[in-house]
Amino acid sequence: MIESQEPIKPPIVQRIPIENKQEEYKPLPSPKYVPLTEPRQKSIMEEFDTITEGDIKERYQRRVTVKSYENLNMPYDTRENPAIFGRNIVMTIDDCYGENSKHVFAALKEKGVTATFFPNTQYLNPKNEDTVKLWKEIYESGFEIGYHTTNHTGNMSIEELNEDFQKFTQHMRELLGDPDFSIKVARPPYGAWDDEWNKWVKQNNLFNIRWNMGPNEKSSYANALGNQNISPIVILHSRDNDVEWLKENLQELILIAKQNKSIVGSVYDSAFRNEKDFLFEDFIKRTEYMIK
Ligand SMILES: [Zn+2]
Repeated sequence: MIESQEPIKPPIVQRIPIENKQEEYKPLPSPKYVPLTEPRQKSIMEEFDTITEGDIKERYQRRVTVKSYENLNMPYDTRENPAIFGRNIVMTIDDCYGENSKHVFAALKEKGVTATFFPNTQYLNPKNEDTVKLWKEIYESGFEIGYHTTNHTGNMSIEELNEDFQKFTQHMRELLGDPDFSIKVARPPYGAWDDEWNKWVKQNNLFNIRWNMGPNEKSSYANALGNQNISPIVILHSRDNDVEWLKENLQELILIAKQNKSIVGSVYDSAFRNEKDFLFEDFIKRTEYMIK
């Protein structure tokens, strides 16, 4: 089943001409970052020196829920702080109908990169074994799952959103077989950020995720955004073209991230990394390992 295509909003910043993309990288201020103590730093580095394939597999068997955000101080909306993720490149995938969710997940996982999925639960049949298997694997690999409504209805009232969010959460709990599954991040269908949505997000202590980059951009656009103190947030859908774009650009996005001492990852990993530096080392090891 193919739904109508969601329009990609024009980026919220003026595009920087390609010839300027080499301009010097200025690190973003990160006031919350507390340097690690030397013994902790040493123990982390030692840990990474001896990392094995088994460690990597085990390390990424984790689940992102509301609890994961406990020690992170997030605003209600990425718009409140466009530099919230530093130079990290946030990957998000919306709607998730058809076979392409599987291809997107495989392409990301192969490179050791996480992402945030914003599915509509109407496409995720809990009676379909393949669907259940795929989404359990997505969740258990440390990918994040956010709210995008059960059936892609935009402009709902607060009451409707409350009801739909309950249904969505319940659906995912059953599908994933985890009664503790919970949601921190949300994005409305069609990017319909109306007053009701914004009020509802605050009432429920959610984190509204906008976007500023899609498959109509080259991967270097991530640097153009970063140079303007705007964290790149990539949106992809379940279209064939988007999967192609990902396969063609992921390697370069990873290289851009590494040059900026940052990561490509889910909303959660990108937020976490901007507050706690050691995730970068983790990302380096993981992606280098996966790319080999
Ligand atoms: Zn959508």
